[in-house]
Amino acid sequence: MHETMVAQSLLTAISDEAAKHNAKPVGAKISCGKLSAINDETLCFAFEALAKGTPCEGLQLQIEHKPIRASCKNCNQDFDVEFSRPRCSNCGSEDFELLPDAPLILEEIEFQTD
Ligand SMILES: [Zn+2]
Repeated sequence: MHETMVAQSLLTAISDEAAKHNAKPVGAKISCGKLSAINDETLCFAFEALAKGTPCEGLQLQIEHKPIRASCKNCNQDFDVEFSRPRCSNCGSEDFELLPDAPLILEEIEFQTD
């Protein structure tokens, strides 16, 4: 399952950071493109299972889905695609090209403070 692999790499990345800071991570924010096949609940569930017994146990994952970007062929502007109204936000043209989906990024980690 895709989410398990993502959860595993997140866990590794967060654990590495936690070791560097010598602190317990309590939350993490990640972002990914809307087109990516990540299911929030599945990812959180997979992460929880993998994090059991590690310093990341109980960590809250926050997932932000980035809008899909497109490049207008008429005015060359990049814009966020709204699927209810797919046209250039700058000139209104419907002639555009979808840009690659945003990658999965670990945006920030929240550590426990005392
Ligand atoms: Zn345009």
